[in-house]
Amino acid sequence: MKQLHVHNWFGSIDSSPYVVVQPDSVEDIIEIMQDHEKYPSPVRAVGSNHSTTPCGVAEGGTLVDMRKMNRIIEIRPDSVTAEAGALYIDVNQELQKHNLQFNVNVELGNLTIGSASCGGTKDASLPGEFGQVCSYASVIKMVTPSGELLEITEDQPELLHVARSSYGLFGIIYEVTFKVRPLQAMTVYHKSYTLDEFATQLPTLRTQGNSIMLYLNPFLDRVVVEFRRYHDTKKPQSLTSWQWKIRNYIWSTLSPFYAYCVTKYVPVVPIRDFLFDLFNRLIFIVCVLVIRGNNTLAIAQQIRYPAVATNSKYTFSIWAFQEEHYIDNLRAYFKFCKDYYRSTGYRSNMISVGYRINHDDSSMFSYSFRGTVMTFDPVSTGNPGWEAFLTAYNELCSSLGGVPLFNQTNLLTSEQVAHAFGDRIATFESYRKRFDPANRLLNGYFSNLFAAEKTVSDRTL
Ligand SMILES: Cc1cc2nc3c(=O)[nH]c(=O)nc-3n(C[C@H](O)[C@H](O)[C@H](O)COP(=O)(O)OP(=O)(O)OC[C@H]3O[C@@H](n4cnc5c(N)ncnc54)[C@H](O)[C@@H]3O)c2cc1C
Repeated sequence: MKQLHVHNWFGSIDSSPYVVVQPDSVEDIIEIMQDHEKYPSPVRAVGSNHSTTPCGVAEGGTLVDMRKMNRIIEIRPDSVTAEAGALYIDVNQELQKHNLQFNVNVELGNLTIGSASCGGTKDASLPGEFGQVCSYASVIKMVTPSGELLEITEDQPELLHVARSSYGLFGIIYEVTFKVRPLQAMTVYHKSYTLDEFATQLPTLRTQGNSIMLYLNPFLDRVVVEFRRYHDTKKPQSLTSWQWKIRNYIWSTLSPFYAYCVTKYVPVVPIRDFLFDLFNRLIFIVCVLVIRGNNTLAIAQQIRYPAVATNSKYTFSIWAFQEEHYIDNLRAYFKFCKDYYRSTGYRSNMISVGYRINHDDSSMFSYSFRGTVMTFDPVSTGNPGWEAFLTAYNELCSSLGGVPLFNQTNLLTSEQVAHAFGDRIATFESYRKRFDPANRLLNGYFSNLFAAEKTVSDRTL
Protein backbone atom coordinates (compact mmCIF):
# COMPACT_ATOMS: atom_id res chain seq x y z
CA MET A 1 0.00 0.00 0.00
CA LYS A 2 1.26 3.48 -0.89
CA GLN A 3 2.39 5.44 2.16
CA LEU A 4 0.36 8.59 2.80
CA HIS A 5 2.02 11.87 3.72
CA VAL A 6 0.11 14.58 5.52
CA HIS A 7 1.25 17.89 6.96
CA ASN A 8 -0.33 20.69 8.94
CA TRP A 9 -1.36 23.93 7.20
CA PHE A 10 2.02 25.59 7.73
CA GLY A 11 3.93 22.52 6.60
CA SER A 12 6.03 22.08 9.73
CA ILE A 13 4.39 18.89 11.11
CA ASP A 14 4.67 15.87 8.81
CA SER A 15 3.08 12.50 9.42
CA SER A 16 2.18 9.24 7.68
CA PRO A 17 -1.26 7.94 8.65
CA TYR A 18 -2.31 4.51 7.39
CA VAL A 19 -5.58 5.92 6.11
CA VAL A 20 -7.25 9.34 5.75
CA VAL A 21 -11.04 9.35 5.86
CA GLN A 22 -13.64 12.11 5.45
CA PRO A 23 -16.89 11.14 7.20
CA ASP A 24 -20.18 12.50 5.87
CA SER A 25 -22.30 11.46 8.82
CA VAL A 26 -22.34 10.29 12.42
CA GLU A 27 -22.85 6.72 11.13
CA ASP A 28 -19.55 7.01 9.23
CA ILE A 29 -17.77 8.06 12.45
CA ILE A 30 -19.30 5.13 14.36
CA GLU A 31 -18.02 2.76 11.67
CA ILE A 32 -14.54 4.30 11.88
CA MET A 33 -14.45 3.84 15.64
CA GLN A 34 -15.65 0.23 15.52
CA ASP A 35 -13.72 -1.18 12.56
CA HIS A 36 -10.20 -1.51 13.97
CA GLU A 37 -8.86 -3.40 10.98
CA LYS A 38 -9.87 -0.92 8.31
CA TYR A 39 -9.24 2.06 10.59
CA PRO A 40 -6.22 1.32 12.81
CA SER A 41 -5.31 3.30 15.94
CA PRO A 42 -4.52 6.00 16.73
CA VAL A 43 -7.68 7.61 15.42
CA ARG A 44 -7.34 11.39 15.32
CA ALA A 45 -9.95 13.86 14.12
CA VAL A 46 -8.75 17.09 12.53
CA GLY A 47 -10.42 20.23 11.29
CA SER A 48 -8.37 22.70 9.25
CA ASN A 49 -5.08 21.27 10.54
CA HIS A 50 -3.86 24.75 11.52
CA SER A 51 -2.34 23.59 14.78
CA THR A 52 1.38 24.22 15.10
CA THR A 53 1.98 21.02 17.11
CA PRO A 54 1.45 17.29 16.37
CA CYS A 55 -1.78 17.27 18.45
CA GLY A 56 -3.78 15.97 15.48
CA VAL A 57 -1.22 13.53 14.11
CA ALA A 58 -2.30 9.91 13.49
CA GLU A 59 1.06 8.28 12.71
CA GLY A 60 0.36 4.82 11.23
CA GLY A 61 -3.30 5.18 12.17
CA THR A 62 -6.51 6.84 10.99
CA LEU A 63 -6.76 10.55 10.27
CA VAL A 64 -10.40 11.65 10.32
CA ASP A 65 -10.79 14.86 8.32
CA MET A 66 -14.02 16.44 9.58
CA ARG A 67 -14.32 19.21 6.97
CA LYS A 68 -17.20 17.61 5.06
CA MET A 69 -19.46 17.71 8.13
CA ASN A 70 -19.94 21.47 7.99
CA ARG A 71 -23.69 22.20 8.23
CA ILE A 72 -25.06 24.98 10.39
CA ILE A 73 -27.93 23.20 12.11
CA GLU A 74 -29.79 25.91 14.02
CA ILE A 75 -29.43 29.57 14.94
CA ARG A 76 -31.33 30.78 18.01
CA PRO A 77 -31.32 34.26 19.66
CA ASP A 78 -28.58 33.22 22.08
CA SER A 79 -26.87 30.17 20.56
CA VAL A 80 -25.84 28.41 17.37
CA THR A 81 -25.49 24.69 16.68
CA ALA A 82 -23.20 23.52 13.89
CA GLU A 83 -21.39 20.42 12.74
CA ALA A 84 -17.78 20.04 13.82
CA GLY A 85 -16.21 20.65 10.40
CA ALA A 86 -17.89 24.03 9.83
CA LEU A 87 -15.46 26.96 9.71
CA TYR A 88 -15.79 29.53 12.45
CA ILE A 89 -15.85 32.37 9.89
CA ASP A 90 -18.66 30.72 7.89
CA VAL A 91 -20.79 30.31 10.99
CA ASN A 92 -20.01 33.88 12.09
CA GLN A 93 -21.04 35.26 8.69
CA GLU A 94 -24.32 33.37 8.92
CA LEU A 95 -24.84 34.72 12.44
CA GLN A 96 -24.32 38.25 11.12
CA LYS A 97 -27.40 37.84 8.90
CA HIS A 98 -29.36 37.36 12.13
CA ASN A 99 -27.65 40.38 13.80
CA LEU A 100 -25.65 37.99 15.98
CA GLN A 101 -21.96 37.18 16.45
CA PHE A 102 -19.70 34.81 18.37
CA ASN A 103 -18.48 36.02 21.76
CA VAL A 104 -14.81 35.44 20.90
CA ASN A 105 -13.79 36.55 17.42
CA VAL A 106 -10.39 34.90 17.03
CA GLU A 107 -8.46 36.10 14.03
CA LEU A 108 -8.24 32.59 12.51
CA GLY A 109 -11.48 32.21 10.54
CA ASN A 110 -10.42 28.71 9.43
CA LEU A 111 -10.76 27.42 12.99
CA THR A 112 -13.30 24.59 12.90
CA ILE A 113 -16.20 24.29 15.31
CA GLY A 114 -14.99 20.91 16.61
CA SER A 115 -11.48 22.11 17.38
CA ALA A 116 -12.85 25.36 18.85
CA SER A 117 -14.91 23.39 21.38
CA CYS A 118 -12.16 21.06 22.63
CA GLY A 119 -8.84 22.87 22.16
CA GLY A 120 -6.89 26.00 23.04
CA THR A 121 -7.67 29.37 21.45
CA LYS A 122 -6.91 32.95 22.34
CA ASP A 123 -8.15 36.44 21.71
CA ALA A 124 -7.70 39.49 23.93
CA SER A 125 -10.59 39.43 26.44
CA LEU A 126 -13.12 42.21 26.45
CA PRO A 127 -14.17 43.33 29.95
CA GLY A 128 -16.20 40.69 31.74
CA GLU A 129 -15.69 38.17 28.93
CA PHE A 130 -13.57 35.14 28.23
CA GLY A 131 -10.85 35.04 25.57
CA GLN A 132 -11.11 31.30 24.91
CA VAL A 133 -13.71 30.02 22.46
CA CYS A 134 -14.35 26.68 24.22
CA SER A 135 -15.63 28.50 27.31
CA TYR A 136 -18.78 29.37 25.34
CA ALA A 137 -19.42 25.75 24.19
CA SER A 138 -22.63 24.70 25.94
CA VAL A 139 -23.35 21.35 24.25
CA ILE A 140 -20.72 19.00 22.79
CA LYS A 141 -21.80 15.84 20.97
CA MET A 142 -19.28 13.13 20.19
CA VAL A 143 -18.83 9.51 19.14
CA THR A 144 -16.77 7.68 21.78
CA PRO A 145 -14.15 5.01 20.91
CA SER A 146 -16.72 2.27 21.55
CA GLY A 147 -18.97 3.83 18.90
CA GLU A 148 -21.52 5.23 21.37
CA LEU A 149 -23.03 8.69 21.12
CA LEU A 150 -22.28 11.02 24.01
CA GLU A 151 -23.95 14.39 24.54
CA ILE A 152 -22.39 16.66 27.16
CA THR A 153 -24.40 19.68 28.30
CA GLU A 154 -24.27 22.37 30.96
CA ASP A 155 -26.23 20.00 33.19
CA GLN A 156 -22.95 18.04 33.55
CA PRO A 157 -20.60 20.94 34.40
CA GLU A 158 -17.65 18.76 35.48
CA LEU A 159 -17.72 16.71 32.32
CA LEU A 160 -18.17 19.76 30.11
CA HIS A 161 -15.19 21.33 31.89
CA VAL A 162 -12.87 18.46 30.86
CA ALA A 163 -14.46 17.94 27.43
CA ARG A 164 -13.64 21.57 26.55
CA SER A 165 -9.96 20.57 26.85
CA SER A 166 -10.21 17.06 25.43
CA TYR A 167 -8.44 17.59 22.07
CA GLY A 168 -10.29 14.63 20.54
CA LEU A 169 -9.02 12.26 23.26
CA PHE A 170 -12.53 11.39 24.57
CA GLY A 171 -14.19 10.95 21.18
CA ILE A 172 -14.75 12.51 17.78
CA ILE A 173 -16.91 15.60 18.12
CA TYR A 174 -19.59 15.87 15.44
CA GLU A 175 -21.78 18.74 16.65
CA VAL A 176 -21.40 21.70 19.02
CA THR A 177 -23.62 24.45 20.40
CA PHE A 178 -21.97 27.78 21.22
CA LYS A 179 -23.50 30.71 23.05
CA VAL A 180 -23.69 33.81 20.86
CA ARG A 181 -24.50 37.50 21.40
CA PRO A 182 -26.13 40.36 19.47
CA LEU A 183 -23.93 42.21 16.99
CA GLN A 184 -22.30 45.16 18.69
CA ALA A 185 -20.20 48.06 17.45
CA MET A 186 -16.53 47.80 18.32
CA THR A 187 -14.13 50.69 18.90
CA VAL A 188 -10.50 50.02 17.99
CA TYR A 189 -7.35 52.11 18.22
CA HIS A 190 -3.61 51.62 18.80
CA LYS A 191 -0.95 53.35 20.90
CA SER A 192 2.81 52.96 20.82
CA TYR A 193 5.04 52.74 23.93
CA THR A 194 8.62 51.99 24.86
CA LEU A 195 8.88 48.96 27.14
CA ASP A 196 9.44 51.25 30.16
CA GLU A 197 6.46 53.43 29.27
CA PHE A 198 4.29 50.36 28.84
CA ALA A 199 5.46 48.99 32.21
CA THR A 200 4.44 52.25 33.90
CA GLN A 201 1.12 52.51 32.06
CA LEU A 202 -0.08 48.90 32.28
CA PRO A 203 -1.79 49.17 35.73
CA THR A 204 -3.90 52.07 34.38
CA LEU A 205 -4.51 50.47 30.98
CA ARG A 206 -5.95 47.40 32.69
CA THR A 207 -8.67 49.47 34.35
CA GLN A 208 -9.87 51.39 31.28
CA GLY A 209 -12.44 48.89 30.05
CA ASN A 210 -10.59 47.87 26.88
CA SER A 211 -9.24 44.58 25.63
CA ILE A 212 -5.44 44.62 25.31
CA MET A 213 -3.60 42.95 22.45
CA LEU A 214 0.11 43.64 21.92
CA TYR A 215 2.56 43.88 19.06
CA LEU A 216 6.00 43.41 20.60
CA ASN A 217 9.39 44.24 19.15
CA PRO A 218 12.32 43.44 21.46
CA PHE A 219 14.82 44.86 18.94
CA LEU A 220 13.12 48.25 18.75
CA ASP A 221 12.16 48.15 22.45
CA ARG A 222 8.57 48.85 21.35
CA VAL A 223 5.14 47.74 22.49
CA VAL A 224 2.14 48.75 20.37
CA VAL A 225 -1.19 48.12 22.07
CA GLU A 226 -4.42 47.40 20.20
CA PHE A 227 -7.33 48.56 22.37
CA ARG A 228 -10.90 47.42 21.67
CA ARG A 229 -14.22 47.86 23.39
CA TYR A 230 -17.88 47.35 22.53
CA HIS A 231 -20.51 50.04 22.60
CA ASP A 232 -24.17 50.08 21.69
CA THR A 233 -25.31 51.15 18.27
CA LYS A 234 -28.81 51.49 16.94
CA LYS A 235 -27.60 50.70 13.40
CA PRO A 236 -25.66 47.43 13.23
CA GLN A 237 -25.96 47.63 9.42
CA SER A 238 -23.65 50.67 9.32
CA LEU A 239 -20.65 48.98 10.99
CA THR A 240 -17.35 49.37 9.12
CA SER A 241 -14.88 46.65 8.13
CA TRP A 242 -12.14 48.57 6.30
CA GLN A 243 -9.95 48.95 9.41
CA TRP A 244 -9.89 45.18 9.91
CA LYS A 245 -9.33 44.58 6.19
CA ILE A 246 -6.14 46.66 6.34
CA ARG A 247 -5.05 44.97 9.58
CA ASN A 248 -5.79 41.53 8.14
CA TYR A 249 -3.95 42.26 4.90
CA ILE A 250 -0.87 43.49 6.76
CA TRP A 251 -0.90 40.60 9.21
CA SER A 252 -1.85 37.65 7.02
CA THR A 253 -0.27 38.62 3.70
CA LEU A 254 2.07 41.61 3.57
CA SER A 255 4.15 41.03 6.75
CA PRO A 256 4.87 37.31 6.24
CA PHE A 257 5.54 37.80 2.53
CA TYR A 258 7.91 40.69 3.24
CA ALA A 259 9.69 38.64 5.96
CA TYR A 260 9.93 35.65 3.62
CA CYS A 261 11.41 37.76 0.76
CA VAL A 262 13.89 39.65 2.94
CA THR A 263 15.06 36.39 4.58
CA LYS A 264 15.44 34.68 1.21
CA TYR A 265 16.94 37.44 -0.93
CA VAL A 266 18.98 39.64 1.44
CA PRO A 267 22.01 37.69 2.68
CA VAL A 268 23.83 40.64 4.30
CA VAL A 269 22.75 40.52 7.93
CA PRO A 270 22.96 44.25 8.86
CA ILE A 271 20.97 45.19 5.74
CA ARG A 272 18.46 42.45 6.48
CA ASP A 273 18.02 43.68 10.05
CA PHE A 274 17.69 47.26 8.83
CA LEU A 275 14.91 46.19 6.44
CA PHE A 276 13.06 44.24 9.17
CA ASP A 277 13.29 47.17 11.58
CA LEU A 278 12.25 49.73 8.95
CA PHE A 279 9.20 47.67 7.99
CA ASN A 280 8.20 47.13 11.61
CA ARG A 281 8.47 50.86 12.35
CA LEU A 282 6.24 51.61 9.34
CA ILE A 283 3.67 49.03 10.42
CA PHE A 284 3.54 50.53 13.90
CA ILE A 285 2.93 53.99 12.40
CA VAL A 286 0.13 52.63 10.18
CA CYS A 287 -1.48 50.90 13.18
CA VAL A 288 -1.47 54.05 15.30
CA LEU A 289 -2.52 56.51 12.56
CA VAL A 290 -4.81 54.47 10.32
CA ILE A 291 -6.26 51.41 12.03
CA ARG A 292 -8.80 53.12 14.24
CA GLY A 293 -12.56 53.46 14.26
CA ASN A 294 -15.60 53.73 16.51
CA ASN A 295 -18.12 51.55 14.72
CA THR A 296 -16.25 48.54 13.44
CA LEU A 297 -17.72 45.09 12.87
CA ALA A 298 -16.17 42.60 15.30
CA ILE A 299 -16.44 39.63 12.97
CA ALA A 300 -14.43 41.49 10.30
CA GLN A 301 -11.40 40.70 12.48
CA GLN A 302 -11.51 37.15 11.17
CA ILE A 303 -9.22 36.04 8.37
CA ARG A 304 -9.98 33.31 5.87
CA TYR A 305 -6.50 31.95 5.18
CA PRO A 306 -6.03 30.16 1.84
CA ALA A 307 -6.72 26.41 2.07
CA VAL A 308 -3.17 25.73 0.84
CA ALA A 309 -0.49 27.89 2.46
CA THR A 310 1.43 30.27 0.17
CA ASN A 311 4.67 32.23 0.63
CA SER A 312 2.65 34.47 2.96
CA LYS A 313 2.35 31.71 5.56
CA TYR A 314 3.61 32.16 9.09
CA THR A 315 3.79 30.21 12.33
CA PHE A 316 4.13 31.12 16.00
CA SER A 317 4.21 29.84 19.55
CA ILE A 318 2.66 30.98 22.84
CA TRP A 319 3.03 30.87 26.64
CA ALA A 320 0.80 32.65 29.15
CA PHE A 321 1.88 34.34 32.43
CA GLN A 322 -0.02 35.60 35.43
CA GLU A 323 -0.53 39.29 34.74
CA GLU A 324 0.96 40.43 38.06
CA HIS A 325 4.35 39.04 36.92
CA TYR A 326 3.96 39.96 33.27
CA ILE A 327 6.19 43.00 33.05
CA ASP A 328 9.15 41.25 34.70
CA ASN A 329 8.63 38.29 32.37
CA LEU A 330 8.25 40.51 29.31
CA ARG A 331 11.54 42.21 30.19
CA ALA A 332 13.10 38.76 30.45
CA TYR A 333 11.67 37.90 26.99
CA PHE A 334 13.03 41.09 25.38
CA LYS A 335 16.44 40.39 26.93
CA PHE A 336 16.28 36.73 25.90
CA CYS A 337 15.55 37.63 22.25
CA LYS A 338 18.50 40.05 22.13
CA ASP A 339 20.90 37.71 23.97
CA TYR A 340 19.84 34.78 21.81
CA TYR A 341 20.48 36.84 18.68
CA ARG A 342 23.92 37.88 19.93
CA SER A 343 24.94 34.33 20.81
CA THR A 344 23.42 32.37 17.90
CA GLY A 345 22.80 34.90 15.12
CA TYR A 346 19.10 33.97 15.06
CA ARG A 347 16.21 36.35 15.37
CA SER A 348 12.63 35.62 14.49
CA ASN A 349 11.77 37.54 11.30
CA MET A 350 8.33 38.85 12.32
CA ILE A 351 7.15 40.87 15.30
CA SER A 352 5.91 39.03 18.37
CA VAL A 353 2.38 39.43 19.64
CA GLY A 354 0.72 39.18 23.05
CA TYR A 355 -2.77 38.97 24.51
CA ARG A 356 -4.40 39.80 27.86
CA ILE A 357 -6.87 37.04 28.67
CA ASN A 358 -9.24 37.09 31.63
CA HIS A 359 -9.25 34.55 34.43
CA ASP A 360 -11.15 31.54 33.09
CA ASP A 361 -11.48 28.13 34.69
CA SER A 362 -14.19 26.91 32.29
CA SER A 363 -11.90 24.22 30.87
CA MET A 364 -9.40 21.81 32.41
CA PHE A 365 -6.31 23.03 30.51
CA SER A 366 -7.26 26.69 30.40
CA TYR A 367 -4.04 28.70 30.50
CA SER A 368 -5.80 31.38 32.59
CA PHE A 369 -7.09 28.82 35.11
CA ARG A 370 -5.39 30.54 38.07
CA GLY A 371 -6.00 34.18 37.13
CA THR A 372 -5.81 36.74 34.35
CA VAL A 373 -2.81 36.16 32.10
CA MET A 374 -0.81 37.95 29.45
CA THR A 375 1.25 36.27 26.74
CA PHE A 376 4.30 36.92 24.58
CA ASP A 377 4.27 34.93 21.38
CA PRO A 378 7.09 34.85 18.83
CA VAL A 379 5.95 34.77 15.18
CA SER A 380 8.00 33.71 12.17
CA THR A 381 7.91 32.45 8.61
CA GLY A 382 9.91 29.54 10.01
CA ASN A 383 13.28 31.03 9.04
CA PRO A 384 16.26 28.67 9.63
CA GLY A 385 16.90 28.40 13.37
CA TRP A 386 13.22 28.81 14.38
CA GLU A 387 12.87 25.39 16.04
CA ALA A 388 16.05 25.71 18.11
CA PHE A 389 14.84 29.17 19.14
CA LEU A 390 11.49 27.67 20.23
CA THR A 391 13.23 25.08 22.37
CA ALA A 392 15.12 27.86 24.18
CA TYR A 393 11.94 29.98 24.38
CA ASN A 394 10.09 27.03 25.98
CA GLU A 395 12.85 26.64 28.55
CA LEU A 396 12.70 30.34 29.39
CA CYS A 397 8.89 30.41 29.63
CA SER A 398 8.68 27.26 31.72
CA SER A 399 11.32 28.60 34.12
CA LEU A 400 9.26 31.81 34.44
CA GLY A 401 6.17 29.80 35.46
CA GLY A 402 4.30 30.09 32.13
CA VAL A 403 1.48 27.91 30.82
CA PRO A 404 1.46 26.55 27.23
CA LEU A 405 -1.30 25.38 24.85
CA PHE A 406 -1.15 21.83 23.49
CA ASN A 407 -2.17 22.89 19.98
CA GLN A 408 -0.19 26.12 19.73
CA THR A 409 3.06 25.68 21.72
CA ASN A 410 5.36 23.33 19.84
CA LEU A 411 8.32 21.25 21.11
CA LEU A 412 7.11 21.00 24.69
CA THR A 413 8.63 18.46 27.05
CA SER A 414 6.60 16.34 29.46
CA GLU A 415 8.41 18.02 32.37
CA GLN A 416 7.30 21.45 31.15
CA VAL A 417 3.72 20.18 30.84
CA ALA A 418 3.80 18.65 34.33
CA HIS A 419 5.28 21.88 35.72
CA ALA A 420 2.54 24.00 34.11
CA PHE A 421 -0.52 21.86 34.84
CA GLY A 422 0.44 19.76 37.91
CA ASP A 423 -2.45 17.61 39.22
CA ARG A 424 -4.73 18.57 36.35
CA ILE A 425 -2.94 16.06 34.08
CA ALA A 426 -3.77 13.14 36.39
CA THR A 427 -7.39 14.29 36.70
CA PHE A 428 -7.66 14.60 32.91
CA GLU A 429 -6.10 11.16 32.46
CA SER A 430 -8.63 9.58 34.80
CA TYR A 431 -11.46 10.95 32.62
CA ARG A 432 -9.70 9.99 29.39
CA LYS A 433 -9.24 6.40 30.52
CA ARG A 434 -12.96 6.17 31.29
CA PHE A 435 -13.82 7.02 27.68
CA ASP A 436 -10.83 5.40 26.00
CA PRO A 437 -9.46 2.53 28.13
CA ALA A 438 -7.74 0.95 25.10
CA ASN A 439 -6.05 4.23 24.01
CA ARG A 440 -7.72 4.14 20.58
CA LEU A 441 -7.51 7.93 20.27
CA LEU A 442 -4.18 8.50 22.03
CA ASN A 443 -1.32 9.48 19.72
CA GLY A 444 2.38 9.58 20.53
CA TYR A 445 2.28 13.34 21.03
CA PHE A 446 -0.16 13.30 23.96
CA SER A 447 1.21 10.05 25.31
CA ASN A 448 4.68 11.65 25.57
CA LEU A 449 3.40 14.93 26.99
CA PHE A 450 1.51 13.17 29.76
CA ALA A 451 4.44 10.80 30.47
CA ALA A 452 5.95 12.77 33.35
CA GLU A 453 2.59 12.64 35.16
CA LYS A 454 2.59 8.83 34.74
CA THR A 455 6.08 8.56 36.18
CA VAL A 456 5.03 10.64 39.21
CA SER A 457 1.80 8.67 39.81
CA ASP A 458 3.58 5.31 39.27
CA ARG A 459 6.12 6.32 41.92
CA THR A 460 3.40 7.26 44.39
CA LEU A 461 1.52 3.95 44.01
C1 LIG B 1 -1.98 31.32 10.51
C2 LIG B 1 -2.57 30.90 11.82
C3 LIG B 1 -3.26 31.84 12.59
C4 LIG B 1 -3.80 31.46 13.81
N1 LIG B 1 -4.46 32.41 14.55
C5 LIG B 1 -5.01 32.05 15.73
C6 LIG B 1 -5.74 32.99 16.53
O1 LIG B 1 -5.85 34.15 16.18
N2 LIG B 1 -6.27 32.56 17.70
C7 LIG B 1 -6.15 31.27 18.10
O2 LIG B 1 -6.64 30.92 19.14
N3 LIG B 1 -5.46 30.38 17.39
C8 LIG B 1 -4.90 30.73 16.22
N4 LIG B 1 -4.23 29.79 15.50
C9 LIG B 1 -4.12 28.43 16.06
C10 LIG B 1 -5.40 27.64 15.84
O3 LIG B 1 -6.52 28.33 16.27
C11 LIG B 1 -5.45 26.38 16.61
O4 LIG B 1 -4.32 25.63 16.37
C12 LIG B 1 -6.74 25.57 16.26
O5 LIG B 1 -6.75 24.38 16.97
C13 LIG B 1 -6.81 25.27 14.78
O6 LIG B 1 -8.10 24.82 14.44
P1 LIG B 1 -8.24 23.63 13.43
O7 LIG B 1 -9.67 23.51 13.08
O8 LIG B 1 -7.27 23.79 12.32
O9 LIG B 1 -7.82 22.42 14.38
P2 LIG B 1 -6.85 21.18 14.08
O10 LIG B 1 -5.45 21.67 14.04
O11 LIG B 1 -7.34 20.45 12.91
O12 LIG B 1 -7.08 20.32 15.41
C14 LIG B 1 -6.73 20.84 16.68
C15 LIG B 1 -6.98 19.78 17.76
O13 LIG B 1 -8.37 19.55 17.89
C16 LIG B 1 -8.67 18.17 17.64
N5 LIG B 1 -9.90 18.13 16.85
C17 LIG B 1 -10.18 18.86 15.75
N6 LIG B 1 -11.43 18.59 15.32
C18 LIG B 1 -11.94 17.66 16.15
C19 LIG B 1 -13.19 16.97 16.23
N7 LIG B 1 -14.18 17.17 15.37
N8 LIG B 1 -13.37 16.07 17.24
C20 LIG B 1 -12.39 15.86 18.14
N9 LIG B 1 -11.19 16.47 18.12
C21 LIG B 1 -10.96 17.37 17.13
C22 LIG B 1 -7.48 17.65 16.87
O14 LIG B 1 -7.30 16.25 17.05
C23 LIG B 1 -6.34 18.44 17.47
O15 LIG B 1 -5.91 17.85 18.67
C24 LIG B 1 -3.67 30.14 14.27
C25 LIG B 1 -2.97 29.19 13.49
C26 LIG B 1 -2.43 29.56 12.29
C27 LIG B 1 -1.67 28.57 11.48
